[in-house]
Amino acid sequence: MKLVVVGGGIAGLAAAHRAVEWSRELGQPLDLTLLEAADRLGGTIQTERRDGFLVECGPDSFLSEKPWALALCRRLGIEELLVRTDDRFRCTYVVLGGRLHPLPEGFQLLAPARLGPFLASGLFSWRGKLRMGLDLVLPRGGDPDESLGAFVRRRLGREALERVAQPLVAGIYTADPGVLSLAATMPRFLELERRERSIILAMWRAARRAPAEAAGSSGARWSLFVTFREGMEEMIRALASRLPPGAVRLKERVTDVTREGSRWRVTTAGGVRLEADQVILAPEAHQAARMIRYLDPSLALLLEEIPYASSATVTLAYRRADIPHPLDGFGFVVPQVERRPIIACTFSSVKYPGRAPEGQALLRVFMGGALDEAILERDDESLVATARAQLGELLGVSAEPLFSRVGRHVKAMPQYHVGHLTRIEAIEQRLRRHPGLALTGGAYRGVGIADCVRSGEEAALRLLESPGVHR
Ligand SMILES: Cc1cc2nc3c(=O)[nH]c(=O)nc-3n(C[C@H](O)[C@H](O)[C@H](O)COP(=O)(O)OP(=O)(O)OC[C@H]3O[C@@H](n4cnc5c(N)ncnc54)[C@H](O)[C@@H]3O)c2cc1C
Repeated sequence: MKLVVVGGGIAGLAAAHRAVEWSRELGQPLDLTLLEAADRLGGTIQTERRDGFLVECGPDSFLSEKPWALALCRRLGIEELLVRTDDRFRCTYVVLGGRLHPLPEGFQLLAPARLGPFLASGLFSWRGKLRMGLDLVLPRGGDPDESLGAFVRRRLGREALERVAQPLVAGIYTADPGVLSLAATMPRFLELERRERSIILAMWRAARRAPAEAAGSSGARWSLFVTFREGMEEMIRALASRLPPGAVRLKERVTDVTREGSRWRVTTAGGVRLEADQVILAPEAHQAARMIRYLDPSLALLLEEIPYASSATVTLAYRRADIPHPLDGFGFVVPQVERRPIIACTFSSVKYPGRAPEGQALLRVFMGGALDEAILERDDESLVATARAQLGELLGVSAEPLFSRVGRHVKAMPQYHVGHLTRIEAIEQRLRRHPGLALTGGAYRGVGIADCVRSGEEAALRLLESPGVHR
């Protein structure tokens, strides 16, 4: 059987690796080719070493709560290379009025799971706290596909949305909560409302059932995450090393995927033509759309319609002594209402071990996203200057950085707008007309790395275990 995987990000690699596992488990021969447009594997995942620092240009960690990435690490034998966040500094700060306020302990993304720290917090006004308390008595909503912004405003009020939900969501999804589908991104909160009506009550009950777990999950991006001692690319290297020699072909941009009788034909810009029994498409949805535009224009349109946002990371290395702030947290998020040109900053060398040499510090600033994409039009120098000016105002850093590194992620983050799940169902239905073809990646049912691993592995198994596969 000939299988072609298009795209060598985490989803494509997880799909290819699962196919190799499947062929070994069942003793089935597999002829695998993975075509990647870039000159490296990993897609959004990119780690660099510089002067003893470890710089992540893309994701810096993955969520261990969702089991698929961890399970893959175990199968790859790289679990012992993982490192945890340094939980002494689990606090996330929120910028308010130009100052950093700690997110109250136990605040779980949208609502407080612990009363004491919430009431004592200076992040919310008394009016805002009382409005959040209204959640205890408000009735259920009726919209099964409400925006996250509308949901939080309805249940918990404007302050909860503007000061916490919006900046945390911007940090995770680089998205505008006013159009982000709650059902597609955080269905847990919809389910809590459906089951228990009040979100706060539901979270208090859950915290009583599992206190340690609740204490550890204030602010999704910043807790329950793990990474690799040598950076996220460790996972990419391990996956690539398990593929058959010669299976990966870099600098091969796929232009067309068409049907030739009972087989598939995959064509690249360089003129390579591969025949295949099965094809897994793992690039961004807008790229997959272009590849299949002649095969199925309706499916291509559905894929094209998934919006993407662009973002940038600016990593800055400093001598620790040059940063007056105690850096006693994982970082800070910046609400849009603060009108600043950055969305978040991670104190990378505090959050994870081994990110900076002794006596030095590494900070990573996020910019752009759906609410401020225009900032990516600026050149690197200007992005670095903007990041430095913000760190000056918020952390008091005026020193020159030892070095800076800008990572650009153009149209890299899929946006799960209201209606996303309906579109994905339509895509999946349309795909059934094309046996032997699968789609995978962050565009469909989860943007996180763990979700992408699941998506890739499921795509491989769906194809390989479908009836009529040559064995
Ligand atoms: C700045 C940033 C930070 C993030 N942080 C986190 C985090 O901390 N934790 C987390 O879990 N998630 C994070 N995410 C999300 C996560 O990184 C991505 O959702 C995930 O890596 C996407 O993987 P993928 O394989 O679907 O796509 P990609 O990584 O985009 O890979 C797609 C691949 O397809 C290739 N390709 C495209 N077109 C073609 C073509 N025509 N022919 C051949 N190949 C092609 C591309 O070159 C690329 O290599 C972050 C995302 C961004 C942008």
